Amino acid sequence: MGTPPTGPTYQPTPYSAAVAARFPAPSVVYNTPGLQAGRTTFTTQAEIQTWLHDQAVSVSRSAGVKAAVLPIGQSQRGEALEALILTRATGTDPTTLLATGRPTVLLVGQQHGDEPAGSEALLVIARELAQGLLQPLLEHINVVIVPRANPDGAASDQRATADGLDMNRDHLLLNTPEAQALAKLTRDYQPIVVVDAHEYPVAGRFLQKFGTVQKFDALLQYATAANLPEFLTKAAEEWYRRPLLVALKGQDLSTEWYYTTSTDMADKKVSMGGTQPDTSRNVNGLKNIVSLLIETRGVGIGRLHIQRRVHTHVTAITSVLASTAQRASELNQLRPYIDKEISAEACKGEAVVEAATTPAQHELVMLDPVSGADKPLMVDWDSALALRSIKARARPCGYWLSAGSTTAVDRLRLHGVQVLRVAEPGSLLGDSYRETSRAAGERQDVDGTIASNNPIIKVQVSLTRGVIDAPRGSYYVPLNQPLGNLVLAALEPDTQSSYFANQLLNGLQSTVRVMAEPNIKLEELP
Ligand SMILES: [Zn+2]
Repeated sequence: MGTPPTGPTYQPTPYSAAVAARFPAPSVVYNTPGLQAGRTTFTTQAEIQTWLHDQAVSVSRSAGVKAAVLPIGQSQRGEALEALILTRATGTDPTTLLATGRPTVLLVGQQHGDEPAGSEALLVIARELAQGLLQPLLEHINVVIVPRANPDGAASDQRATADGLDMNRDHLLLNTPEAQALAKLTRDYQPIVVVDAHEYPVAGRFLQKFGTVQKFDALLQYATAANLPEFLTKAAEEWYRRPLLVALKGQDLSTEWYYTTSTDMADKKVSMGGTQPDTSRNVNGLKNIVSLLIETRGVGIGRLHIQRRVHTHVTAITSVLASTAQRASELNQLRPYIDKEISAEACKGEAVVEAATTPAQHELVMLDPVSGADKPLMVDWDSALALRSIKARARPCGYWLSAGSTTAVDRLRLHGVQVLRVAEPGSLLGDSYRETSRAAGERQDVDGTIASNNPIIKVQVSLTRGVIDAPRGSYYVPLNQPLGNLVLAALEPDTQSSYFANQLLNGLQSTVRVMAEPNIKLEELP
């Protein structure tokens, strides 16, 4: 993309005064370091660290509230990744927070470095929770905030991490230290809700394809991956998205479902967020978390409308925090119910291996780039709200993994998946995969771009039932656990997101679908 403009006077072309007039600044003025008058750069990494530490200090003067800045990892260029923990528990470690019985909300900003509004908004939210108007919410919830998940990307105003990987397509594989840090934080603090704050392109492809600029202050979407429990989606819709719509409307902020369009100029289709289990939105859904994506209109317009973009995120995130406080007891019941429901599905029925969106039509309102007037368009619309099963298989009892599958085992455990080790040699009844075709390929993103630079192995497989030897030191991953659906997404080999396709597993023979409860001696890993 070259060097993106960031100066205060930058406007994309064409982006008329009439368009800009549609987006007046809010009456409130936000004053994080990066939003000070006269600033030409957003809040720096050093300023974020100081800000978080200042909130932790200010909170320690406030009776009953505890806060701590937790180091959660390092970026590829060695920047500290940090989370601010805010709670009325007696400590800030995961066990103490969980013991409060209060649901924990995890807020993540700026996985994409060129989407700054979420990060600035989370600094505002941190301050309001620590010492401002949101502090009373801590009577009902714990909050964990990672304002900037990708500091290297932010420092160079680029979407990807330092090595060029899109970390928001890495949440199942966990190849980047940035995604690993979030996975570990999620595993340890067990949030009930995760908000992923992004921004979307205002002109770009839409201008080229439809001759329009985009209208909506906020695009919203919850998890839409295969096998998600119905009640999780219901909670996301009824307890979160609907109050969110009301809150945003109350501030005269417009909303739509999240959407994107392909880079192919001839393809006028518009797609909702995809079904692949690779984004934070979908992978957190597979962890039985209410997972919400919030995107403001901000990519490609530098600092234009920045107060309004931050206000949109602050309004939306405040609504999510309030909904969690209001629904705390229902959420506390929902989670164990869903965990149990998924565990109980092991060895039974079918699981969807691959799902697809459903073609539909949708009236999408865009803006005329000159007059700024609404321009409604009827578009071909790939709906992620109704998923079609493309490929389904009997749901196994679990998966056997060869002793050499240590990378896959480590990644699964980083997610919080229980992996057992075979303690004594034995045999298992299972389905082995046989390759029927193979091609080299790339992971496709929902917008038609390549989701990762790393090539994948695309295979077609057939299954062969048989008794297999399980040597000592090999692994068993039971599906009788809350993250069973995440395990399926990782270990069925013939999908573009799988551990096999992305070469975290050595060969198809390293995985067997175990089709009867194993009668062998298993042990916990240390
Ligand atoms: Zn983004």
